[in-house]
Amino acid sequence: MTTAVAPSAQLTAEDRCDRCGAQAYLRVELAIGELLFCGHHAREHGAALKEIAVSVQDETHKLTGSPAASDDAS
Ligand SMILES: [Zn+2]
Repeated sequence: MTTAVAPSAQLTAEDRCDRCGAQAYLRVELAIGELLFCGHHAREHGAALKEIAVSVQDETHKLTGSPAASDDAS
């Protein structure tokens, strides 16, 4: 089984949520492109998007227990 997809790099501080611009922890690859979400929006949209996603890179586990999370929870 061969996939043409390059090994996905880890999400970094350069990756920003498409909705609010916070650091992204979820990358959702769709047939039409790629979406990035912060922890907040990953929870909000992740479940629905995972159903239609080609592939999902979920790093939201980094948020739990991370006191350095700078997500603006307003
Ligand atoms: Zn967001």
